[in-house]
Formats: sequence, C-alpha cells, structure tokens
Amino acid sequence: MASRKTDHDVVVVGGGNAALCAAMTAAESGMKVLILESAPQSYRGGNSRHTRNFRCMHDGPLSVLVESYDEDEYFADLIKVTDGRTDEDLARMVIRRSEECLPWMEAHGVRFQPSLSGTLSLARTNAFFMGGGKALVNAYYRTAAALGVDVLYDAPVRHIQLDRRKVASVRYDHDGVSHTVQPRAVIVASGGFQADIDWLADAWGPAARNFLIRGTPYNRGTVLRNLLDQGAQSVGDPTQCHAVAIDGRAPKFDGGIVTRLDCVPFSVVVNKNGDRFYDEGEDVWPKRYAIWGRLVAAQPDQIGYAIVDSRAIPLFMPSVFPPVRANTLEELAQKMELPVDGVMKTISRFNAACGDTSAFHPTELDGVRTQGIEPAKTNWARPISEPPFYGYTLRTGVTFTYLGLKVDENAQCRTEDGLIENLWAAGETMAGSILGQGYLAGYGMTIGTVFGRIAGQEAANYVR
Ligand SMILES: Cc1cc2nc3c(=O)[nH]c(=O)nc-3n(C[C@H](O)[C@H](O)[C@H](O)COP(=O)(O)OP(=O)(O)OC[C@H]3O[C@@H](n4cnc5c(N)ncnc54)[C@H](O)[C@@H]3O)c2cc1C
Repeated sequence: MASRKTDHDVVVVGGGNAALCAAMTAAESGMKVLILESAPQSYRGGNSRHTRNFRCMHDGPLSVLVESYDEDEYFADLIKVTDGRTDEDLARMVIRRSEECLPWMEAHGVRFQPSLSGTLSLARTNAFFMGGGKALVNAYYRTAAALGVDVLYDAPVRHIQLDRRKVASVRYDHDGVSHTVQPRAVIVASGGFQADIDWLADAWGPAARNFLIRGTPYNRGTVLRNLLDQGAQSVGDPTQCHAVAIDGRAPKFDGGIVTRLDCVPFSVVVNKNGDRFYDEGEDVWPKRYAIWGRLVAAQPDQIGYAIVDSRAIPLFMPSVFPPVRANTLEELAQKMELPVDGVMKTISRFNAACGDTSAFHPTELDGVRTQGIEPAKTNWARPISEPPFYGYTLRTGVTFTYLGLKVDENAQCRTEDGLIENLWAAGETMAGSILGQGYLAGYGMTIGTVFGRIAGQEAANYVR
C-alpha cells in the first residue's frame, strides 16, 4: 500500500453532477481539489450523464423556463409523489435554492434548451440540457479543469477512515496500487448502491437479480457501506428506490433513457402465465411508469408482456429494439414463449369487455374503459384486434436507491454522537435525507446541484 502525502485540501469521491458541483465550488473558494472517480474517463459522470433536465423554481420567466413555478406549487408536486414521506425543511430549502442554480449552471458551461413537446409539458418546470447530461458533465469537467481541479479516473475509493468524528484518511486504488491520502476535508458524491446486485437482493430478496440497472455499473455503494459500517448515520429504507418499467431486452447496466417503452397505456399487459394484473390505462404514462417498475417486480420471474395491435403502433414513441411481430395472436404468444391458451383467453375476455370506443383519445384520459373484468382498464380500452400484432417484454429498471447518508442543511454527515467534523455528502448518496419514497422528474439533479454547491462551500469554509 502506498501512502501519498496529498497537497489537496478537499477530496471529492465520485465524478457525477453532485461531485462536480462540489469540486467547482470548493475550487472557486481557493481550495486545491482532487476528484476520485471510479469509472474510466470514457464512462465518467455516473448516472448524471443519462439525465435530460433539472426542475427549477422561478418567479417569472427564467432562461428557457416559461411563466413561473413557485415554492408552494413545487413542494405540492413533490408531496404528491412521495405521499408525504419528505423532509419538508430540506425539500423546501432545495426548492428555494434551485432558482439561483440555473444561472450558476449556465455560468459554469451548461447550455439549456426549451423542453421538447410530448405527452407531459415540462416547459414551465424543467430546464432541459442541450446535448443531455453528457454535455453537462463534459462542460463541468472542462470548467473544473480551468479552476485547477485535479481528476483521477479509474480510482475507486475503498475506505474512508473515520477517527471518532473526523475523517483521518481516504484509501483508493489506482494503476493496481492502493494509495492513502489525508485531505483536510472529504465530500462523498458516489451515488446509490443499485449496481451492487447482491446488496439489492439482500434488501429485495432474489427477485432483485432480475432487475435491470438503468444507469452506471460503478454506483455500488462501496463508500456508503464503508461509512455506515463505521457508524455514520443512515437514512432511508433499503427497499426504496426509483424503479420504472423498461424494455426487457435492455442491457443489465447503463441502458439509459432509450430503453424506455411507452406502449403500456395502449396495450394489454400479461404476466408469464398469460394473466392481466393491473389497469394499463390508469393514467398517462409519464405519471405511471414508475408504478409499473414495482408492479412488474411483483410478477413471477419479474417480467411482463405488453401486447398491442397495429392501430396502437403510431400512438407511442418507437422503441429502440423492434417489437416481436406476428399476424395472429396465437403466433405472437408462441413467439413470446407465453402460454397460448392463457393469452387467448385473457385477450378474448378483454376484447369482449371493451364497449363504445368512439371517444378514444390517445393523449387525454378519455374514460374509454372495460366493463365487467378485473382488473378494469379505465382509459384507452380498445380491443386488441387489428393484425399484425406486436409484443414487448417489460422488466424493472432501477434508477437509484434511497438508503443513504443522513445529512443536515449544510450537507454535513453525522454519527449517533454528532456531526463528523470534515465529511459532507451530496447527490444520490444523501437523497434519502429528503425523499422517503417516490420521485419527481428532474428533482435528482436539483438535489445534487444544490447540495453539491453547499458541500463544496462548507468544506472550503472548514479548511479555511
Ligand atoms: C437513465 C436515467 C435518467 C435520468 N434522468 C434524470 C433527469 O433527467 N433529471 C434528474 O434530475 N435526474 C435524472 N436521473 C437521476 C439522476 O441521474 C441523479 O439524480 C443525478 O444525476 C445523480 O447525480 P450524482 O452525482 O449523485 O450521482 P452520479 O451521477 O451517479 O455520480 C456518482 C459517481 O460516483 C462514482 N463512484 C461510485 N462509487 C465510487 C467509489 N467507490 N469511488 C469513486 N467514485 C465512485 C461513479 O463512477 C459516478 O461517477 C436519471 C437517472 C438515470 C439512470
């Protein structure tokens, strides 16, 4: 093991949005900063490189955001999705500070564009990154370099030594050698633990082995576990995570947003026994795709099958992988390795339960529903009857886990006995301090940006 005397004041663990915001802020306060990123350079940026937008409060038009979006409306939106399991003080603080983040992000190289039109209008609430999260991450790395921040890639942190309530050292691997450094302050921004499938299975049971991980394979929670084992206070429930239903053929890791499937509202979804299990038309898809992550997780082998007919195909965004196609429903069931009799029975009953479809409207809750079957389909219920027929598999795609490090409004970590003098956390790794369950689109980047900047400033104040 090599011991390195570091001349860095602040070590930042991780190389995504939260880490970069922290590093740039600390560097602007005169700190010598080192980022330790476990991924190689080409994979730098964690889940942040998959993102598209950031949710921002504003009193009037701000950059690409139209009209206004005030604190109370933003908070009400958050409460709706988290069912009240939210730390109100921290959530409101993040919301208020999001407004100053947008110009700060622009000043640090991020370019925004108006939201794309789609089923859900976000033009007022979410600012979209031109070039997506990858462009944001690249811009931040360039700005960080100009500020003198040093970055080591392929440098996973293995251990942060807590000496009572102070970080004594940080151990990481690089070039096949283990190094130990003693910075004055440390900021942890290394994401959740979702890419550690064993840990996920400990929390969820064996079903978790069939989950797909939508983002980086590098967020394995190594530092999170290491700190919790040494008495750092945790927050959140290990079974809580953001999970959505995605294309079952997506890669195990890092499929990103292109693996999203939007066919469910216009489909009949069955499990591997050929049985329906939930109302496919409960609400518009952006409001329901997170629910379907958990619904699919509860089915045998954690898989679902969405079946549509030719009339539905133009109604949703094309998928990255082409669907299975067949001229008859029997042939489709066979091709999808589903029990043919079971599927035929389910779809015949479903078709017979569809009534008048003249009010069918694909982009509104149209109330076109089934009668007399359980579960009902309460919108967009049209018979699956026009060949050719198409099928997609659905699997649970985990975005990020909520178990994390408990922090206060200064982003500072603690043990049962009090604050840890020189340790701060930002981003997904502490998001559980705010969100108990559920998720609001664009709030992850808001948490990371606000807390990253706070952590960078607090670490710099401490060192000074
Ligand atoms: C497909 C997808 C789309 C998303 N879209 C959005 C969106 O549009 N808007 C939004 O707000 N949120 C979105 N999210 C959620 C979003 O990614 C996060 O909330 C946010 O980017 C998290 O930033 P972070 O810096 O905390 O984590 P990350 O960006 O994941 O960064 C964590 C970093 O830590 C590094 N790391 C991990 N372990 C170690 C270790 N031991 N040592 C050193 N480094 C380590 C990783 O390599 C990585 O660079 C999306 C997520 C996914 C997967």
